[in-house]
Amino acid sequence: MISEKMRPFLENNSAIRMMFEEGKKMAELYGADKVYDFSLGNPNVPAPQRVNQAIKDILDEEDSLYVHGYMSNAGYPEVREAIAANLNERFDTKFAGRNLIMTVGAGSGLNVALKTLLNPGDEVITFAPYFLEYRAYVTNYDGVLVTVEPDTETFQINREAFRVKINEKTKAVIINNPNNPTGVVYSEETIQALAAILEEKQKEYGHAIYLISDEPYRELVFDGATVPFVTKYYANTMVVYSYSKSLSLPGERIGYVLIPDELEESAMTIDAATIANRISGCVNAPSLIQLAVGRCVDCQADLAFYDRNRKTLYEGLTELGFTCVRPQGAFYLWLKVPMAKDAAEGTDLAAAEAAFVNAAKKYHILIVPGSSFACPGYVRLAYCVSYETIVNALPEFAKLGKEFL
Ligand code: PLP
Repeated sequence: MISEKMRPFLENNSAIRMMFEEGKKMAELYGADKVYDFSLGNPNVPAPQRVNQAIKDILDEEDSLYVHGYMSNAGYPEVREAIAANLNERFDTKFAGRNLIMTVGAGSGLNVALKTLLNPGDEVITFAPYFLEYRAYVTNYDGVLVTVEPDTETFQINREAFRVKINEKTKAVIINNPNNPTGVVYSEETIQALAAILEEKQKEYGHAIYLISDEPYRELVFDGATVPFVTKYYANTMVVYSYSKSLSLPGERIGYVLIPDELEESAMTIDAATIANRISGCVNAPSLIQLAVGRCVDCQADLAFYDRNRKTLYEGLTELGFTCVRPQGAFYLWLKVPMAKDAAEGTDLAAAEAAFVNAAKKYHILIVPGSSFACPGYVRLAYCVSYETIVNALPEFAKLGKEFL
């Protein structure tokens, strides 16, 4: 008999994953070029050639016992130092290798952070719409996820709604910047306001409230947007990073947790996080790809590819009359669901969204309902697809629009 804790997961198996499976079936039926699958955030840009070359060089140059062996649970010292030096150069910070724990991607990094911090019953606040795995990750450590409703004008943080959700049980707050699913980049003003509220509430309740900044899309920004480096604004911050998106390495499972010296009881927290990494069963981050990213800390994602997709999709859809948040980061577009022309009086957002997502399938368009991010009434389009998919999908969106706009 499986655990009671696992049952709800079986019942609510990820809508995004199911959509992805549906896309594969549709591609078999109609041909891959006739299916417009915007469901999964799986990068369509190949990893930079330098990463592949680094892997080959490491295999040729390094001692194979070293390359394939166990290492410190926090990762190879030279890799952590190379990443710290690169961050210091880019963000004018003062990290050392000891501030980093290499993890099995951001998913594992978030689990390490939460395992390190949470006692049963502790509350963790996040902002809708959000990456739904956060709820599962918090539940893994018997924490309680509390969500803040969005400011649907800007999809920046809803400050007043946030303030009232903080109480003596609040242990941590998770933000995701640039944001999945909205494509919004939180501005410096937003981060300053968030930090000020947290400082005030830490004083009021007399204990640390940690900010966990989930940043797998940090480098994927457009229109000259900049992503504030949160440790500079708020001391009790952990940054969770991944190379899944920035270097198109999602299957390799590599990322890190950054714990700055300024964080309360930093040394003890770093030690605890290192142990959390080990006893989560990951033991350490994968060795070969870890060494490879250590040699590629200054590698860039192919921003021009995503930017062309972003502009074509956003401009195409808004010209058709759809209302979308102009994406500034990540590779997602957030579209407001229009009510169907024949919708019955009183149709709620969730029903309107389901009708829209199902109608899209008629045109072989796969998009993810906003409910999958705790924000009904919207849909997410992952535009990390081929340019042709976007160009060929637009006439199909026009047909969909005729039913709704
Ligand atoms: N956080 C967010 C917001 C994501 O969108 C994702 C993946 O899509 C992750 C974390 C997990 O990333 P990783 O592949 O590094 O585990």
